[in-house]
Amino acid sequence: MKILHVCAEFYPLLKTGGLADVTGALPKAQVEQGHDARILIPAFPAIKAGVTPTDLVREFDSFAGRVTLRYGHYEGVGIYLLDAPHLYDRPGSPYHDSYQHAYADNHIRFALLSWVAAEMVAGLDAFWRPELVHCHDWHAGLACAYLMAKKADYPVKSVFTIHNLAYQGNFAAYHLPELQLPYHYFDPNGLEFYGQLSYLKAGLFYADQITAVSPTYAQEILQPEYAYGFEGLLRDRYHQGRLKGILNGIDEAIWDPRQDKLIEQRYNKRNLKSKIENKAALQAEFNLTMSNRQPLFAVVSRLVYQKGLDLVLARLPAILASGAQFILLGSGDDNLQQAFEQLSQQPENQGNIAIHLGYNEALSHRIIAGADVLMVPSRFEPCGLTQLYALKYGTLPLVHHTGGLADTVIDSSEDNISNKSATGFVFYDCKVDAMQLAIDRAGQLWQNQRSWRQVQQQAMSKNFSWHESAKQYLALYHTLLG
Ligand code: ADP
Repeated sequence: MKILHVCAEFYPLLKTGGLADVTGALPKAQVEQGHDARILIPAFPAIKAGVTPTDLVREFDSFAGRVTLRYGHYEGVGIYLLDAPHLYDRPGSPYHDSYQHAYADNHIRFALLSWVAAEMVAGLDAFWRPELVHCHDWHAGLACAYLMAKKADYPVKSVFTIHNLAYQGNFAAYHLPELQLPYHYFDPNGLEFYGQLSYLKAGLFYADQITAVSPTYAQEILQPEYAYGFEGLLRDRYHQGRLKGILNGIDEAIWDPRQDKLIEQRYNKRNLKSKIENKAALQAEFNLTMSNRQPLFAVVSRLVYQKGLDLVLARLPAILASGAQFILLGSGDDNLQQAFEQLSQQPENQGNIAIHLGYNEALSHRIIAGADVLMVPSRFEPCGLTQLYALKYGTLPLVHHTGGLADTVIDSSEDNISNKSATGFVFYDCKVDAMQLAIDRAGQLWQNQRSWRQVQQQAMSKNFSWHESAKQYLALYHTLLG
Protein backbone atom coordinates (compact mmCIF):
# COMPACT_ATOMS: atom_id res chain seq x y z
CA MET A 1 0.00 0.00 0.00
CA LYS A 2 1.21 3.51 -0.79
CA ILE A 3 0.88 5.70 2.28
CA LEU A 4 1.93 9.33 2.63
CA HIS A 5 2.46 10.61 6.18
CA VAL A 6 2.25 14.39 6.45
CA CYS A 7 3.91 15.90 9.51
CA ALA A 8 6.10 18.63 10.98
CA GLU A 9 8.42 16.55 13.17
CA PHE A 10 10.50 13.44 12.62
CA TYR A 11 12.67 11.57 15.11
CA PRO A 12 15.64 11.72 15.37
CA LEU A 13 16.10 14.78 13.18
CA LEU A 14 13.55 17.19 14.60
CA LYS A 15 11.58 16.61 17.76
CA THR A 16 9.61 18.70 20.21
CA GLY A 17 7.59 15.82 21.70
CA GLY A 18 6.00 12.43 21.20
CA LEU A 19 4.73 13.31 17.70
CA ALA A 20 8.29 12.99 16.38
CA ASP A 21 8.69 9.57 18.01
CA VAL A 22 5.55 8.42 16.20
CA THR A 23 6.42 9.76 12.75
CA GLY A 24 9.94 8.36 13.21
CA ALA A 25 8.61 4.90 14.04
CA LEU A 26 5.24 4.23 12.38
CA PRO A 27 6.28 4.69 8.72
CA LYS A 28 9.40 2.63 9.45
CA ALA A 29 7.28 -0.18 10.90
CA GLN A 30 4.99 -0.01 7.86
CA VAL A 31 7.95 -0.25 5.50
CA GLU A 32 9.21 -3.26 7.46
CA GLN A 33 5.78 -4.82 6.96
CA GLY A 34 6.20 -4.47 3.19
CA HIS A 35 4.32 -1.22 2.52
CA ASP A 36 5.48 1.84 0.65
CA ALA A 37 5.11 4.42 3.42
CA ARG A 38 6.67 7.82 2.81
CA ILE A 39 6.79 11.10 4.66
CA LEU A 40 6.16 14.66 3.51
CA ILE A 41 7.75 17.24 5.78
CA PRO A 42 8.98 20.84 5.42
CA ALA A 43 12.71 21.07 4.74
CA PHE A 44 13.54 22.59 8.12
CA PRO A 45 17.33 22.94 8.53
CA ALA A 46 17.63 19.80 10.68
CA ILE A 47 15.63 17.76 8.17
CA LYS A 48 17.60 19.08 5.23
CA ALA A 49 20.89 18.32 6.94
CA GLY A 50 19.76 14.82 7.96
CA VAL A 51 18.21 13.58 4.73
CA THR A 52 20.94 13.45 2.12
CA PRO A 53 21.37 12.97 -0.73
CA THR A 54 18.09 14.06 -2.26
CA ASP A 55 16.76 14.15 -5.82
CA LEU A 56 14.75 16.93 -7.31
CA VAL A 57 11.11 15.92 -7.81
CA ARG A 58 9.57 19.17 -8.97
CA GLU A 59 10.02 22.93 -8.79
CA PHE A 60 6.91 25.05 -9.00
CA ASP A 61 5.12 28.23 -7.95
CA SER A 62 2.40 28.11 -5.33
CA PHE A 63 0.19 30.50 -3.36
CA ALA A 64 3.04 30.51 -0.83
CA GLY A 65 5.79 31.32 -3.30
CA ARG A 66 8.44 29.26 -5.09
CA VAL A 67 8.75 25.69 -3.84
CA THR A 68 11.13 22.84 -4.53
CA LEU A 69 10.10 19.29 -3.74
CA ARG A 70 13.00 16.93 -3.14
CA TYR A 71 13.12 13.23 -2.27
CA GLY A 72 15.56 11.24 -0.18
CA HIS A 73 15.68 8.44 2.36
CA TYR A 74 16.18 8.11 6.06
CA GLU A 75 16.73 4.59 7.43
CA GLY A 76 14.80 3.04 4.60
CA VAL A 77 11.85 5.43 4.68
CA GLY A 78 11.27 7.72 1.70
CA ILE A 79 11.08 11.39 2.65
CA TYR A 80 9.70 14.22 0.52
CA LEU A 81 11.27 17.49 1.60
CA LEU A 82 9.21 20.55 0.97
CA ASP A 83 11.84 23.17 0.41
CA ALA A 84 10.79 26.80 0.59
CA PRO A 85 13.60 28.60 2.44
CA HIS A 86 11.57 31.78 2.93
CA LEU A 87 9.15 29.71 5.03
CA TYR A 88 11.15 26.91 6.60
CA ASP A 89 14.81 27.84 6.77
CA ARG A 90 14.60 28.80 10.44
CA PRO A 91 16.59 26.99 13.13
CA GLY A 92 15.11 25.43 16.28
CA SER A 93 11.45 24.73 16.78
CA PRO A 94 9.31 24.20 13.70
CA TYR A 95 6.58 26.39 15.19
CA HIS A 96 8.06 29.37 16.99
CA ASP A 97 11.11 31.58 17.31
CA SER A 98 13.63 31.44 20.14
CA TYR A 99 11.39 33.71 22.24
CA GLN A 100 8.58 31.11 21.99
CA HIS A 101 6.57 33.41 19.71
CA ALA A 102 4.63 31.50 17.06
CA TYR A 103 5.77 32.55 13.61
CA ALA A 104 3.42 35.13 12.12
CA ASP A 105 3.23 33.21 8.85
CA ASN A 106 2.40 29.80 10.37
CA HIS A 107 -0.94 29.84 8.55
CA ILE A 108 0.94 29.87 5.24
CA ARG A 109 3.76 27.57 6.33
CA PHE A 110 1.40 24.75 7.29
CA ALA A 111 -1.20 25.44 4.60
CA LEU A 112 1.54 24.90 2.04
CA LEU A 113 2.53 21.59 3.61
CA SER A 114 -1.09 20.45 3.43
CA TRP A 115 -1.68 21.76 -0.07
CA VAL A 116 1.39 19.93 -1.37
CA ALA A 117 0.11 16.72 0.26
CA ALA A 118 -3.08 17.05 -1.79
CA GLU A 119 -1.08 17.85 -4.92
CA MET A 120 0.88 14.62 -4.39
CA VAL A 121 -2.40 12.81 -4.87
CA ALA A 122 -2.90 14.74 -8.10
CA GLY A 123 0.47 13.60 -9.43
CA LEU A 124 3.08 16.13 -8.28
CA ASP A 125 5.55 13.24 -8.32
CA ALA A 126 4.97 11.66 -11.70
CA PHE A 127 6.32 8.32 -10.43
CA TRP A 128 4.46 7.94 -7.15
CA ARG A 129 0.97 8.72 -5.90
CA PRO A 130 -0.31 7.83 -2.45
CA GLU A 131 -3.41 5.71 -2.05
CA LEU A 132 -3.91 7.05 1.44
CA VAL A 133 -2.77 10.26 3.13
CA HIS A 134 -2.15 10.10 6.87
CA CYS A 135 -2.08 13.56 8.47
CA HIS A 136 -0.60 14.21 11.91
CA ASP A 137 -1.88 16.98 14.21
CA TRP A 138 -3.04 20.46 13.21
CA HIS A 139 0.10 21.06 11.17
CA ALA A 140 -1.30 18.73 8.52
CA GLY A 141 -5.02 19.15 9.24
CA LEU A 142 -5.71 21.34 6.24
CA ALA A 143 -4.57 18.51 3.95
CA CYS A 144 -7.88 16.77 4.71
CA ALA A 145 -9.73 19.87 3.44
CA TYR A 146 -7.60 20.19 0.29
CA LEU A 147 -8.12 16.48 -0.36
CA MET A 148 -11.87 16.84 0.09
CA ALA A 149 -11.85 19.61 -2.50
CA LYS A 150 -10.20 17.19 -4.95
CA LYS A 151 -12.29 14.18 -4.00
CA ALA A 152 -14.30 14.09 -7.24
CA ASP A 153 -11.14 13.69 -9.32
CA TYR A 154 -8.95 11.84 -6.85
CA PRO A 155 -10.93 9.70 -4.39
CA VAL A 156 -7.99 9.12 -2.09
CA LYS A 157 -8.71 8.43 1.61
CA SER A 158 -7.40 10.52 4.46
CA VAL A 159 -6.64 9.66 8.07
CA PHE A 160 -6.12 12.37 10.67
CA THR A 161 -4.34 11.46 13.90
CA ILE A 162 -4.88 13.55 17.01
CA HIS A 163 -1.65 13.51 18.98
CA ASN A 164 -2.82 16.32 21.25
CA LEU A 165 -6.07 18.24 20.96
CA ALA A 166 -4.65 21.05 23.08
CA TYR A 167 -2.77 22.41 20.06
CA GLN A 168 -5.17 23.61 17.41
CA GLY A 169 -3.65 25.88 14.80
CA ASN A 170 -6.28 28.62 14.88
CA PHE A 171 -5.78 31.59 12.57
CA ALA A 172 -7.63 34.79 11.71
CA ALA A 173 -10.39 34.28 9.17
CA TYR A 174 -9.05 37.02 6.91
CA HIS A 175 -6.29 34.65 5.84
CA LEU A 176 -8.80 32.48 3.99
CA PRO A 177 -8.24 34.12 0.57
CA GLU A 178 -4.51 33.34 0.86
CA LEU A 179 -5.04 29.59 1.18
CA GLN A 180 -6.61 28.51 -2.10
CA LEU A 181 -9.45 26.73 -0.37
CA PRO A 182 -13.11 26.80 -1.46
CA TYR A 183 -14.68 29.74 0.38
CA HIS A 184 -17.68 27.72 1.49
CA TYR A 185 -15.36 25.55 3.63
CA PHE A 186 -15.34 28.45 6.07
CA ASP A 187 -18.47 27.24 7.79
CA PRO A 188 -19.40 25.68 11.16
CA ASN A 189 -19.83 22.53 9.06
CA GLY A 190 -16.28 22.93 7.84
CA LEU A 191 -13.15 24.45 9.25
CA GLU A 192 -14.64 27.55 10.90
CA PHE A 193 -14.20 27.53 14.67
CA TYR A 194 -15.62 30.44 16.64
CA GLY A 195 -14.93 32.85 13.81
CA GLN A 196 -11.42 31.57 13.14
CA LEU A 197 -9.83 29.16 10.72
CA SER A 198 -8.95 26.00 12.64
CA TYR A 199 -6.48 23.68 10.96
CA LEU A 200 -7.22 21.10 13.63
CA LYS A 201 -10.92 21.27 12.86
CA ALA A 202 -10.17 20.87 9.16
CA GLY A 203 -8.61 17.52 10.04
CA LEU A 204 -11.43 16.52 12.36
CA PHE A 205 -14.17 17.51 9.94
CA TYR A 206 -12.82 16.47 6.54
CA ALA A 207 -10.75 13.36 7.30
CA ASP A 208 -12.29 10.07 6.25
CA GLN A 209 -11.13 8.65 9.55
CA ILE A 210 -9.83 10.17 12.76
CA THR A 211 -7.60 8.32 15.16
CA ALA A 212 -6.49 9.33 18.63
CA VAL A 213 -3.30 7.92 20.10
CA SER A 214 -4.93 5.77 22.77
CA PRO A 215 -8.36 4.16 23.25
CA THR A 216 -9.04 6.00 26.52
CA TYR A 217 -8.12 9.39 25.04
CA ALA A 218 -10.45 8.65 22.11
CA GLN A 219 -13.26 8.37 24.67
CA GLU A 220 -12.15 11.26 26.87
CA ILE A 221 -12.22 13.77 24.03
CA LEU A 222 -15.94 13.19 23.67
CA GLN A 223 -16.27 15.07 26.98
CA PRO A 224 -16.11 18.88 27.19
CA GLU A 225 -13.34 18.91 29.80
CA TYR A 226 -10.93 17.25 27.37
CA ALA A 227 -12.23 18.52 24.03
CA TYR A 228 -11.55 22.30 23.88
CA GLY A 229 -14.94 22.88 22.27
CA PHE A 230 -14.68 20.05 19.73
CA GLU A 231 -16.79 17.55 21.71
CA GLY A 232 -19.87 18.00 19.49
CA LEU A 233 -17.98 17.34 16.28
CA LEU A 234 -16.00 14.50 17.84
CA ARG A 235 -19.16 12.84 19.14
CA ASP A 236 -20.70 13.03 15.66
CA ARG A 237 -17.64 11.49 14.14
CA TYR A 238 -17.52 8.84 16.84
CA HIS A 239 -21.15 7.89 16.23
CA GLN A 240 -20.40 7.66 12.52
CA GLY A 241 -17.71 5.12 13.43
CA ARG A 242 -15.05 7.57 12.28
CA LEU A 243 -13.07 7.99 15.48
CA LYS A 244 -10.91 5.24 16.89
CA GLY A 245 -8.10 5.02 19.43
CA ILE A 246 -4.88 3.23 18.46
CA LEU A 247 -2.18 3.12 21.09
CA ASN A 248 1.27 4.36 20.13
CA GLY A 249 4.11 1.90 20.29
CA ILE A 250 7.76 2.33 21.11
CA ASP A 251 10.64 2.02 18.71
CA GLU A 252 12.60 -0.88 20.13
CA ALA A 253 15.62 -0.09 18.03
CA ILE A 254 15.94 3.02 20.20
CA TRP A 255 14.31 2.09 23.50
CA ASP A 256 15.36 -1.34 24.67
CA PRO A 257 17.53 -1.90 27.78
CA ARG A 258 19.04 -5.02 26.20
CA GLN A 259 20.72 -3.05 23.44
CA ASP A 260 20.60 0.63 24.42
CA LYS A 261 24.06 2.07 23.76
CA LEU A 262 23.24 5.30 25.59
CA ILE A 263 23.08 3.66 29.02
CA GLU A 264 25.86 2.54 31.37
CA GLN A 265 24.98 -1.17 31.47
CA ARG A 266 22.59 -3.08 29.27
CA TYR A 267 20.21 -5.43 31.09
CA ASN A 268 17.12 -7.57 30.79
CA LYS A 269 14.41 -8.74 33.14
CA ARG A 270 16.47 -11.71 34.32
CA ASN A 271 19.50 -9.56 34.98
CA LEU A 272 18.16 -6.66 36.99
CA LYS A 273 21.43 -6.33 38.92
CA SER A 274 22.80 -4.49 35.92
CA LYS A 275 19.97 -2.00 36.18
CA ILE A 276 21.37 -1.07 39.59
CA GLU A 277 24.66 -0.15 37.92
CA ASN A 278 22.75 2.34 35.82
CA LYS A 279 21.33 3.82 38.99
CA ALA A 280 24.79 4.08 40.53
CA ALA A 281 26.15 5.75 37.40
CA LEU A 282 23.31 8.26 37.46
CA GLN A 283 23.84 8.99 41.15
CA ALA A 284 27.54 9.52 40.51
CA GLU A 285 26.87 11.77 37.52
CA PHE A 286 24.57 14.03 39.54
CA ASN A 287 26.38 13.95 42.89
CA LEU A 288 23.57 12.06 44.55
CA THR A 289 24.31 9.93 47.59
CA MET A 290 25.42 6.54 46.27
CA SER A 291 22.87 4.20 47.71
CA ASN A 292 20.53 1.55 46.41
CA ARG A 293 18.49 1.61 49.58
CA GLN A 294 16.87 4.91 48.64
CA PRO A 295 14.32 4.70 45.82
CA LEU A 296 15.09 7.14 43.01
CA PHE A 297 12.04 8.96 41.62
CA ALA A 298 12.39 10.64 38.22
CA VAL A 299 10.61 12.96 35.80
CA VAL A 300 11.44 13.34 32.10
CA SER A 301 9.00 15.80 30.63
CA ARG A 302 8.07 19.05 29.07
CA LEU A 303 7.31 21.38 31.98
CA VAL A 304 3.80 22.47 31.06
CA TYR A 305 0.51 22.58 32.96
CA GLN A 306 -0.74 19.45 31.15
CA LYS A 307 1.95 17.33 32.76
CA GLY A 308 0.79 17.96 36.36
CA LEU A 309 4.29 18.57 37.66
CA ASP A 310 3.01 21.20 40.07
CA LEU A 311 1.64 18.19 42.00
CA VAL A 312 5.11 16.68 42.14
CA LEU A 313 6.53 20.01 43.25
CA ALA A 314 4.01 20.21 46.08
CA ARG A 315 4.98 16.76 47.39
CA LEU A 316 8.69 16.91 46.67
CA PRO A 317 9.78 18.02 50.17
CA ALA A 318 7.81 15.07 51.60
CA ILE A 319 9.23 12.64 49.02
CA LEU A 320 12.75 13.70 49.93
CA ALA A 321 11.99 13.68 53.66
CA SER A 322 10.83 10.07 53.34
CA GLY A 323 14.37 9.15 52.30
CA ALA A 324 13.84 8.95 48.54
CA GLN A 325 15.89 10.69 45.87
CA PHE A 326 14.59 12.71 42.94
CA ILE A 327 15.90 13.64 39.51
CA LEU A 328 14.21 15.79 36.88
CA LEU A 329 15.02 16.37 33.24
CA GLY A 330 12.75 18.91 31.60
CA SER A 331 12.22 22.32 30.19
CA GLY A 332 9.35 24.71 29.73
CA ASP A 333 7.40 26.88 32.12
CA ASP A 334 9.70 29.39 33.86
CA ASN A 335 7.91 29.25 37.20
CA LEU A 336 8.18 25.47 37.38
CA GLN A 337 11.82 25.54 36.35
CA GLN A 338 12.67 28.05 39.05
CA ALA A 339 10.67 26.26 41.74
CA PHE A 340 12.41 22.94 41.07
CA GLU A 341 15.79 24.65 41.02
CA GLN A 342 15.12 26.39 44.31
CA LEU A 343 14.29 23.09 45.98
CA SER A 344 17.47 21.57 44.63
CA GLN A 345 19.51 24.34 46.26
CA GLN A 346 18.18 23.87 49.78
CA PRO A 347 20.94 22.55 52.03
CA GLU A 348 18.80 19.77 53.54
CA ASN A 349 18.18 18.32 50.05
CA GLN A 350 21.81 18.11 48.99
CA GLY A 351 22.77 14.69 47.69
CA ASN A 352 19.17 13.69 47.13
CA ILE A 353 17.92 15.88 44.32
CA ALA A 354 19.16 16.73 40.84
CA ILE A 355 17.45 19.11 38.44
CA HIS A 356 18.63 19.25 34.84
CA LEU A 357 16.82 21.90 32.85
CA GLY A 358 16.92 21.49 29.09
CA TYR A 359 16.34 18.91 26.43
CA ASN A 360 18.77 16.00 26.35
CA GLU A 361 17.95 12.80 24.52
CA ALA A 362 20.90 10.75 25.81
CA LEU A 363 20.30 11.82 29.40
CA SER A 364 16.64 10.83 29.09
CA HIS A 365 17.83 7.26 28.40
CA ARG A 366 20.23 7.28 31.36
CA ILE A 367 17.50 8.52 33.68
CA ILE A 368 14.88 6.08 32.51
CA ALA A 369 17.36 3.23 32.90
CA GLY A 370 18.74 4.40 36.24
CA ALA A 371 15.63 5.52 38.15
CA ASP A 372 13.31 3.27 40.15
CA VAL A 373 10.07 5.18 39.60
CA LEU A 374 9.09 7.47 36.72
CA MET A 375 6.42 10.02 37.67
CA VAL A 376 3.87 10.99 34.99
CA PRO A 377 1.02 12.75 36.81
CA SER A 378 -0.42 14.36 33.67
CA ARG A 379 -3.81 16.06 33.93
CA PHE A 380 -4.49 14.57 30.51
CA GLU A 381 -2.22 12.49 28.34
CA PRO A 382 -3.21 11.51 24.78
CA CYS A 383 -0.86 8.51 24.89
CA GLY A 384 2.36 9.33 26.69
CA LEU A 385 5.57 7.63 25.71
CA THR A 386 7.80 7.99 28.74
CA GLN A 387 5.69 5.56 30.79
CA LEU A 388 6.06 3.02 27.97
CA TYR A 389 9.83 3.47 27.98
CA ALA A 390 9.80 3.18 31.77
CA LEU A 391 7.85 -0.10 31.66
CA LYS A 392 10.30 -1.51 29.15
CA TYR A 393 13.22 -0.49 31.40
CA GLY A 394 11.72 -1.89 34.61
CA THR A 395 11.36 1.62 36.03
CA LEU A 396 7.92 1.56 37.56
CA PRO A 397 5.66 4.35 36.27
CA LEU A 398 3.58 6.33 38.73
CA VAL A 399 0.73 7.84 36.72
CA HIS A 400 -2.60 9.60 36.80
CA HIS A 401 -5.36 7.41 35.37
CA THR A 402 -5.97 9.27 32.11
CA GLY A 403 -5.58 8.71 28.35
CA GLY A 404 -2.78 6.40 27.35
CA LEU A 405 -1.51 6.27 30.93
CA ALA A 406 -4.75 4.54 31.91
CA ASP A 407 -4.37 2.11 29.01
CA THR A 408 -0.83 1.06 29.78
CA VAL A 409 -0.09 1.03 33.52
CA ILE A 410 -1.66 -1.38 36.03
CA ASP A 411 -1.64 -0.35 39.67
CA SER A 412 0.28 -2.32 42.30
CA SER A 413 -2.78 -2.90 44.42
CA GLU A 414 -2.70 -5.97 46.65
CA ASP A 415 -4.95 -7.84 44.22
CA ASN A 416 -2.88 -6.93 41.20
CA ILE A 417 0.35 -7.88 42.95
CA SER A 418 -1.03 -11.28 43.90
CA ASN A 419 -2.53 -11.96 40.47
CA LYS A 420 0.77 -10.82 38.89
CA SER A 421 -0.69 -8.08 36.72
CA ALA A 422 0.76 -5.02 38.48
CA THR A 423 3.20 -2.88 36.49
CA GLY A 424 3.29 0.48 38.29
CA PHE A 425 1.29 2.88 40.48
CA VAL A 426 -1.93 4.57 39.42
CA PHE A 427 -3.97 7.33 41.06
CA TYR A 428 -7.45 8.32 39.90
CA ASP A 429 -8.07 11.79 41.20
CA CYS A 430 -5.56 14.27 39.79
CA LYS A 431 -4.90 15.83 43.18
CA VAL A 432 -1.94 15.91 45.52
CA ASP A 433 -3.52 13.63 48.16
CA ALA A 434 -4.38 10.90 45.68
CA MET A 435 -0.91 11.08 44.19
CA GLN A 436 0.58 10.85 47.67
CA LEU A 437 -1.26 7.56 48.26
CA ALA A 438 0.32 6.17 45.10
CA ILE A 439 3.73 7.38 46.31
CA ASP A 440 3.05 5.62 49.61
CA ARG A 441 2.20 2.41 47.76
CA ALA A 442 5.49 2.73 45.89
CA GLY A 443 7.29 3.22 49.22
CA GLN A 444 5.67 0.11 50.68
CA LEU A 445 6.48 -2.04 47.67
CA TRP A 446 10.08 -0.78 47.79
CA GLN A 447 10.36 -2.24 51.30
CA ASN A 448 9.70 -5.66 49.81
CA GLN A 449 12.38 -5.98 47.16
CA ARG A 450 11.20 -9.39 46.00
CA SER A 451 7.77 -8.03 45.15
CA TRP A 452 9.36 -4.96 43.58
CA ARG A 453 11.41 -7.15 41.26
CA GLN A 454 8.35 -9.17 40.38
CA VAL A 455 6.47 -6.03 39.37
CA GLN A 456 9.52 -4.87 37.40
CA GLN A 457 9.56 -8.15 35.51
CA GLN A 458 5.86 -7.90 34.77
CA ALA A 459 6.37 -4.36 33.48
CA MET A 460 9.27 -5.46 31.29
CA SER A 461 7.24 -8.34 29.85
CA LYS A 462 4.68 -5.96 28.33
CA ASN A 463 4.81 -5.63 24.58
CA PHE A 464 4.27 -2.13 23.22
CA SER A 465 6.16 -2.60 19.98
CA TRP A 466 5.16 -0.52 16.96
CA HIS A 467 4.45 -3.64 14.98
CA GLU A 468 1.23 -4.22 16.89
CA SER A 469 0.06 -0.61 16.44
CA ALA A 470 1.18 -0.55 12.80
CA LYS A 471 -0.99 -3.61 12.16
CA GLN A 472 -3.99 -1.80 13.59
CA TYR A 473 -3.39 1.23 11.36
CA LEU A 474 -3.12 -1.05 8.35
CA ALA A 475 -6.35 -2.82 9.21
CA LEU A 476 -7.95 0.63 9.40
CA TYR A 477 -6.49 1.69 6.04
CA HIS A 478 -7.76 -1.53 4.46
CA THR A 479 -11.26 -0.92 5.79
CA LEU A 480 -11.18 2.63 4.39
CA LEU A 481 -9.91 1.55 1.01
CA GLY A 482 -12.46 -1.27 0.87
P1 ADP B 1 4.59 15.00 24.81
O1 ADP B 1 4.58 14.63 23.37
O2 ADP B 1 3.30 15.58 25.32
O3 ADP B 1 5.76 15.84 25.20
P2 ADP B 1 5.13 12.16 25.26
O4 ADP B 1 5.31 11.38 26.52
O5 ADP B 1 4.18 11.62 24.25
O6 ADP B 1 4.75 13.66 25.67
O7 ADP B 1 6.52 12.29 24.51
C1 ADP B 1 7.58 13.01 25.06
C2 ADP B 1 8.86 12.61 24.36
O8 ADP B 1 9.81 13.64 24.56
C3 ADP B 1 9.46 11.36 24.94
O9 ADP B 1 10.22 10.71 23.94
C4 ADP B 1 10.38 11.92 26.03
O10 ADP B 1 11.42 11.03 26.36
C5 ADP B 1 10.89 13.16 25.37
N1 ADP B 1 11.27 14.24 26.28
C6 ADP B 1 10.46 15.07 26.98
N2 ADP B 1 11.20 15.99 27.64
C7 ADP B 1 12.48 15.73 27.37
C8 ADP B 1 13.73 16.33 27.75
N3 ADP B 1 13.77 17.40 28.53
N4 ADP B 1 14.87 15.79 27.27
C9 ADP B 1 14.82 14.72 26.45
N5 ADP B 1 13.69 14.11 26.05
C10 ADP B 1 12.54 14.61 26.50
